[in-house]
Amino acid sequence: MSKVLIIEDEEAIAELEKDYLELNSFEVTIENTGTKGLEAALSQDYDLVILDLMLPGMDGFEVCKKIREEKNIPVIMVSAKKDDIDKIRGLGLGADDYLTKPFSPSELVARVKAHMSRYDRLVGTNVKTNDMVEIRGIRIDKTARRVYIDGEERAFTTKEFDLLTFLAENPNHVYTKEELFREIWDMASIGDIATVTVHIKKIREKIEFDTSKPQYIETIWGVGYRFKV
Ligand code: CA
Repeated sequence: MSKVLIIEDEEAIAELEKDYLELNSFEVTIENTGTKGLEAALSQDYDLVILDLMLPGMDGFEVCKKIREEKNIPVIMVSAKKDDIDKIRGLGLGADDYLTKPFSPSELVARVKAHMSRYDRLVGTNVKTNDMVEIRGIRIDKTARRVYIDGEERAFTTKEFDLLTFLAENPNHVYTKEELFREIWDMASIGDIATVTVHIKKIREKIEFDTSKPQYIETIWGVGYRFKV
């Protein structure tokens, strides 16, 4: 459940906002001074802050500035005076939105939802970034264990994937077949270095345009293989 912090000294307004947000499944906390509001905003994990401008103690300008120094969460500022809103914009405090009182509760809820989903998308893209290896036309998604050649996905077996990823992550390094076998296959594996040759051949069939002239995995005769950059 998304958590909203309301920093508002007028109890009736704060309660009205709270009721509407709760009806829309938000979890709501009210703080009635700037100082307590700032402390709550910084110490707890809120998803959005609704911040009144005129507050006892620290005013909304200062609270917004201090939240911004520490956090990236959406802040919606509210004020009774249109002039104040213009002033806030001018100061560039980093508030995400502004509402002039009186506003309709449904308008507030709509803005809260819009800012929250926008913020979720921003944060979501950061959090969900997969671990990628990209060399020329090859893109290896290590998290999803998928390989794309010029944007097109190709199917790889587990060992083929591990071998390709290992070579691609260590480009320009020449590995002997013995080294690759030890690296990719565990000690208990039955097989020999010929297994490496077979796997390299299969990988090349999937990644190379012309397997007789490999552009990615190069054979160093008498030594082994290396991934060219
Ligand atoms: Ca006030």
